[in-house]
Amino acid sequence: MKGIKSIWTAKLEWPNPADREQRIKDYVELANSLAWQRMGSFFAAAVLAMFYFDPATTIACYAGLLFSEFLDMWLGKHAKAWDGKDPAVGRRLMRSFTISTVISSVAISLFVITIAVQQTTGGHFTPLFLLFAASLFAAMYNSPLINILLLRLSIYAAAFLFIGFLDIVRFRPDLSSTIWLEFFTIVFVLYFIIDTSLNFYRHYQERLKQIKQIKEENERTKAAYEIKSQFLSTVSHELRTPLTSIKASLDLVNNGTLGEVPDNLKGALFIAAKNGQRLANLIDDLLDLQKMEAGELDLVLETMGVNELVKEAVESTAGYAGKLGIHVTTILPAQELMIQGDHSRLVQVMNNLMSNALKFSDEGGSVQVRVEPKGDHVRISVEDEGMGIPENARDRVFGKFSQVDSSDIRKVGGTGLGLNITKQLVERHGGRIDYESQQGVGTTFYVEFDLVEDGSSDRTDSTQMALTA
Ligand code: ADP
Repeated sequence: MKGIKSIWTAKLEWPNPADREQRIKDYVELANSLAWQRMGSFFAAAVLAMFYFDPATTIACYAGLLFSEFLDMWLGKHAKAWDGKDPAVGRRLMRSFTISTVISSVAISLFVITIAVQQTTGGHFTPLFLLFAASLFAAMYNSPLINILLLRLSIYAAAFLFIGFLDIVRFRPDLSSTIWLEFFTIVFVLYFIIDTSLNFYRHYQERLKQIKQIKEENERTKAAYEIKSQFLSTVSHELRTPLTSIKASLDLVNNGTLGEVPDNLKGALFIAAKNGQRLANLIDDLLDLQKMEAGELDLVLETMGVNELVKEAVESTAGYAGKLGIHVTTILPAQELMIQGDHSRLVQVMNNLMSNALKFSDEGGSVQVRVEPKGDHVRISVEDEGMGIPENARDRVFGKFSQVDSSDIRKVGGTGLGLNITKQLVERHGGRIDYESQQGVGTTFYVEFDLVEDGSSDRTDSTQMALTA
């Protein structure tokens, strides 16, 4: 009863133009995925029919079937290439699929009917079973296009009923005859096929609805994300300009350029300058992140020496290292190795690795920067003897706004953006970044870049020299 009710209450949504493209493409995909099974079953049925029944009608029906299959395949190709924009193409495809459905279902129906007509005794198991198999195939792959499904099922239902009535008309049997039993069984099988087809259809509808919801959700998220990015970018730009002048003024005051600073103001002005710098760094990071997410980060590529790059980074962080009492050693190959990249961005990468190594080291510790060739690329590593990074923290190390120790009692400040930006910059250069670490022993971050031709010669026997910053 429940099944019968579900047939009547099934909501049959005619393919509306909005999702016609999706439905047609799903129809083609399903039809293609079952093509070999379908062709195989039709072929086996045709061979059997040619052997046991009239070969001429079998060949004619089989030809009609093959024609519709090839038509479907050809239409499938067009449907796949259709971008969904021109509705006229959609309508043409629907019309063509309808014609091909009529051809194939009429061919199948005629095929089984001619077999049934030739059977005069012993029921019609073979044609009925073939029709049943064809109906199940229809239920499986016609579900995206309800009009095609209904059209095909109606033609099959007519064939089912024709075969059912055939012997009743021929023999006018008594109600107790098995001919009537066969007829009632056919009616039951018909009901089963319709119910199964509607179930396939309902599942497809459900899937389509979910896809639609996911798409809408995705659109909303994208829109919100764009607004957020726009907001972040505007705020960052707006903050940067006044901050630059505040910082410049504070520097002038702190340098004594504008006159002697009273002792009681020195401390407060120093803190203001330091925090101004932190704020500027954060804004720079946000702007970089924004640019990378928008795909607007342009690299100005040039060929440069790795030793030079490293020396520049070590020099620019020397003041910070000195303040923390950290000894920085640089080990460079005697032969300059050449890489290609955006100079200021690669300096930014090195500065970030250096400042992290210094920041997470204990006072009086040491940091070692090493450049070494590795096959056709060069590795630059920054090794510290600091607190180390616990295992399984990789996601947090390279994540956005994430820090391994994000507790309130962490000793060092930061935004958790540096390594995320660094990783993206390294990868934009075709390089890679990684680290090895042992808690309480230290951490080595390294980046690797491809060497460019002229710098890669004579690098295997390079001697190493040590520089101390
Ligand atoms: P932050 O602004 O916090 O330094 P980063 O993205 O540069 O952000 O680093 C992310 C996190 O990775 C840091 O908060 C820290 O927990 C960890 N980390 C980075 N470098 C080191 C290092 N040399 N030693 C120990 N931990 C490090």
